[in-house]
Amino acid sequence: MSTRRNFLKVVPAVGAALTASCTESSNSASAKTSPAPLRPVVISTWNHGQPANAAAWKILSQGGTALDAAEAGVRVTEADPSGQSVGLGGRPDAEGNVTLDACIMGPDGDCGSVAYLQEILHPITVARQVMEKTPHVMLVGKGAQEFALEQGHKKVDLLTDASRKDWEEWKAKNTSGRLPINIENHDTIGLLTLDQNGDLAGACTTSGAGFKLPGRVGDSPIIGAGLYVDNEIGGATATGWGEAVIRACGCFLVVELMRQGHSPQRACELAVERVISKNPDWKEIQVGFIALNKNGEHGSFCIAPGFDYALYSPEVENGLIDSGSKIKG
Ligand code: ASP
Repeated sequence: MSTRRNFLKVVPAVGAALTASCTESSNSASAKTSPAPLRPVVISTWNHGQPANAAAWKILSQGGTALDAAEAGVRVTEADPSGQSVGLGGRPDAEGNVTLDACIMGPDGDCGSVAYLQEILHPITVARQVMEKTPHVMLVGKGAQEFALEQGHKKVDLLTDASRKDWEEWKAKNTSGRLPINIENHDTIGLLTLDQNGDLAGACTTSGAGFKLPGRVGDSPIIGAGLYVDNEIGGATATGWGEAVIRACGCFLVVELMRQGHSPQRACELAVERVISKNPDWKEIQVGFIALNKNGEHGSFCIAPGFDYALYSPEVENGLIDSGSKIKG
């Protein structure tokens, strides 16, 4: 289990009664202290978000675009072999194959996605190329890999010794079904950016659930589920049990709730409530959302304690923040 370190702020326990305890803007520090739009901002899931944020911030602080920053940020995580939930070093499926899902969405509303992509180091860049160089939004499997190779990507063995060992141990136990959440068997990086021009973008990339059934695709490459950005309103991205996020169309829901006037924090809380209502097994899963609106205000919420996110803004220098839910606890 990775160390959830350097917490910048721990949001008070929300308590079992979600509806009664949620308040508007309860986690939006920027809303309280800075009525003027705050920018640039980058926010991303889990502690692997900190190095990703740093790469994105470098671009944003130099006046680069939200889209370039989002892609550059998550590429750091994809290339890090020590992370066993994204890109290189990701845990394989039940047959020992590392299969990657990713999507990207820019301020013009365009988006690109790849799923069940194998042996390619940077699925997020392939997703961007799908967006920019094809008439399509999503490519999967062999077709996605062939497209990536045509675009100049090289085949890479993504299975590291550590992940092979985990897979062999899992096989030896003959485990079937879903693994417990929050033990680092799957932690997507989803990252949202707001650039100096006030434009929003997002990127989301993962190796998905460890030891998943071959062919399984989670929420992360599905526009509206694992990621959604509307440049008029805001963006959202998700982590956790992808099937539950897909059932609620999670990130589209968060953005639509912000469109209705909810703060990013309240939108995340209501979306978690929706996920709970659509998934009778919710006590056994984790789902977390982060959201960023056009004013640079952010929010986050999750089902189970243990989800943190990384924030880099003019007010917070790449802090790690506990999302604070105690719904299950
Ligand atoms: N959402 C990802 C999936 O289900 C995994 C995760 O974020 O934990 O594939």
